[in-house]
Amino acid sequence: MLSDVFRRWPAVAAATVLTFAGIASPAWAQTTKSLPSPESVFGFPVGADYKLFTYDQSIDYFKRLAAASNRIRLITVGKTSFGKPWTAAIISSPANLARLDQIRAVNMRLAHPQGLTDSAARRLAAQGRAIVDISGGLHASEIAGSQQDIVVNWCRARDASPGQPVPPMELYQKYVGHDNNRDSYMLNVIESRVIQRTWREWEPDIIYVQHQSSPFPTRIWLPPFADPVGLRVPPIMAREVNAIGTRIAEELDGNGQPGAVSQLETYDAWYPGYIDYMPMYQNIAAWWTETQGGNCATPRTTTVDSLPPAYRDLRPTSLYVSPWAEGKWGLRDAVDYMVTADLATLNYAAKFKSELLYNRRATRSHNSVRVRRTRTSFRRISTTPWLPPSCSSAWRSWECA
Ligand SMILES: [Zn+2]
Repeated sequence: MLSDVFRRWPAVAAATVLTFAGIASPAWAQTTKSLPSPESVFGFPVGADYKLFTYDQSIDYFKRLAAASNRIRLITVGKTSFGKPWTAAIISSPANLARLDQIRAVNMRLAHPQGLTDSAARRLAAQGRAIVDISGGLHASEIAGSQQDIVVNWCRARDASPGQPVPPMELYQKYVGHDNNRDSYMLNVIESRVIQRTWREWEPDIIYVQHQSSPFPTRIWLPPFADPVGLRVPPIMAREVNAIGTRIAEELDGNGQPGAVSQLETYDAWYPGYIDYMPMYQNIAAWWTETQGGNCATPRTTTVDSLPPAYRDLRPTSLYVSPWAEGKWGLRDAVDYMVTADLATLNYAAKFKSELLYNRRATRSHNSVRVRRTRTSFRRISTTPWLPPSCSSAWRSWECA
C-alpha cells in the first residue's frame, strides 16, 4: 500500500481517492514496474516549477494507471456543475478489490448499526477494512493536490505575459466560488450532493481533504483544531482526528519536513457547513490540512529576516516544535508534504483498523445522535440520509434538484 505510485497520487487526484487499509500487500512490487510514470505522461515531473497539467490530463493518467494495475479501479460517481464526469479511484490490494461489495457491506452495517449487537459489531470490525477517502483538493486555486482547468489556464496566461495585468480568475466553482466549502449543511451545490451521496454509498471511516493555505511561515497546518470546536461532535471522533493530526506531524518531522503546526487562531471547527468537518457528526473521523503556497507553481525563497517578527527567533512552541526557517519552497515541496500526510493517515488506518470500524458503531449511542433526531435544525446533517422534499426516497434522488 505504501507504494511509489501512491506517492505520486495526490498531485494528480481528480476528485476522490478511496483506499482500504488493514492488510499487507506482498505482491505490490510485481505490479509497479509496468506502471506509467507521471513524467512519461505529462512530460515533466509532478510539482516541477511553473509546470501544470489540465484536468483531462490528470484523468487520462488515472486511466492509464487503472489499465496497467490490478490495484486501482475507477468509478464515476456523478457529474460536476459543468457537466464533466466525476471520477473516483479505488486503490487497494487485488484481494480486497475482488470482494469490494462485501467490504462495503460490512462498512455500511457498522455505519447504520440499528439492531447490531456489540459482539457482532466487534466481529464485523475485525473482518472489515478501513475505507479512507482522500480528496486532493476542494479549492481550485490550491494546486498541489489537484489541478483544474480554470486555474491552470489563468496561470499559463499570467506566466505568458510577465509584468502585464491579467484579468481576474474566473469563478472556479459555479455560482459559489470558494464557498463550495460552506455548503455542507444545506447542499445547494451539485458537487456537495454528489459528495454526500458517494459518502453515504461507501461510508468511509476517514475523510481527509487537502487545502493549501497554511499561515506563513508555517509549512502545513493540521489538527488539533483551534477552539471553538463543534458542539456535540462525538468525542471519540474528535480524539481520533487529534491523534491522526499528531501522527502526521510526527511523520513529517521524521522525514525532515519541518514547519507543521496545529491550532493557531486560524482554523477552528465551529462552523458545521465545512464539507471536511461535517462528517464528524456522522461518526466519521474528518478533517483537512492546509499546506503552504499555491501560486501557480511559482517557487518562493524566503529568509529568516523576512519572517513575521513573532517567528524570527525560531523558538519552538508546543504545537510548532520544528519552526520553518528559510529557503526555497516550490510546488514539489507542497506535494511532498501532502504525500507524507496521506501516508501517515493510511498508516494510522492500517494500525487501528478495527478500532476505526468499531467506533463507527460505538459512537452511535452518543448524545449527539439522539439530539439530532429530535431537533429539526439538525435534520440535514443527521446520520440518516436527508432528501430534498421534491425528491423520491431513492438514493440517487440526491441529484434530482
Ligand atoms: Zn482550500
